[in-house]
Amino acid sequence: MSRFMSSRLSTLKPYTPGEQPRGREYIKLNTNESPFPPSENVIKAVNSAAVSELRLYSDPECTELREAIARYTGYQSKNIFVGNGSDEVLSFLFMAYGENGVTYPSVSYGFYKVYCDLYGLEKHEKALREDFTVCPDDYIGGKSLKVIANPNAPTGMALGTDEIERIVRENPDSVVVIDEAYVDFGAESAVGLVKNYPNLAVVQTFSKSRSLAGARLGFCVASEALTDDLNRIKYSNNPYNINRLTLIAGKAAIEDREYFEKCRREIIRVRELFSQQLIERGFAVLKSSANFVFAKSPEIGGKELYLRLKEKGFLIRHFDSDGISDYNRITIGLEDDMRSLISAIDSL
Ligand code: PMP
Repeated sequence: MSRFMSSRLSTLKPYTPGEQPRGREYIKLNTNESPFPPSENVIKAVNSAAVSELRLYSDPECTELREAIARYTGYQSKNIFVGNGSDEVLSFLFMAYGENGVTYPSVSYGFYKVYCDLYGLEKHEKALREDFTVCPDDYIGGKSLKVIANPNAPTGMALGTDEIERIVRENPDSVVVIDEAYVDFGAESAVGLVKNYPNLAVVQTFSKSRSLAGARLGFCVASEALTDDLNRIKYSNNPYNINRLTLIAGKAAIEDREYFEKCRREIIRVRELFSQQLIERGFAVLKSSANFVFAKSPEIGGKELYLRLKEKGFLIRHFDSDGISDYNRITIGLEDDMRSLISAIDSL
């Protein structure tokens, strides 16, 4: 670090993303990407004519993409805010509403803590219950921003909409953010609640169920007042936050519902098969509603399993944190890849 860094930021511990290896070929099951390519519509739309247009700035209002997301969600464009990955949307939400602290589960997406530190917000971390579920009562009352990933990461476990609605209803004086990065793999979305609750922001991403992690695109569905706030921040930061190619890719992806359905159903099918195979081998496997499973080997510690599978050419995720270090998070890939992983586990 240079001696010029602001003192407020000098103790910041940044988020550590999962490995993106170069060189050796791994079966990559560590960052919850989709094993399927983007929709054919995306591949056709992002063509050389689109590339030629890169000399021009992108549409700062992201009009066509927001209209497409509005049609998909059943809201109006004014209720849609798009960001450079859902990470950017979350970052803006923390910046906008975290003034009175932020309440989130102690075991959850690691970026929540980082945003609190980045913006100097007080952290209220709530433990999960013994069975790794989020306890809704912990998120009721007070003026802090409430942030819940549903399904949660890295557990994959989800709350029902009735529980989410209770949290939103009983927090009239604070914003509730539901981070639905993994919702398309089996959980109920809270998007339908937005029309009734001006304090609710539902965040989704194109990175997982729409195979566009590398395009960096996420969105938020919320009341017009909240999207206005987010735009105020965006126009004070980077008005062209979504590049031209991503605007085109995102619209093409969200309009191909058939491919989206096919991919997410396949992930769910393979997840259930894979979970069953782990259970047969004595693993403890949490009930997942996501495109990954969180599992504990009956014999090998979490760190060791990660290292030994890496030697065999498989990348999975291990978190060295309290209460979860015996577990590994394993992304659901192609059926053949999961079969090879099971063989590798059997060989250990
Ligand atoms: N929320 C959760 C719970 C996640 O796991 C991730 C992915 N790491 C994100 C948000 C951010 O995803 P992206 O920025 O790719 O949309």
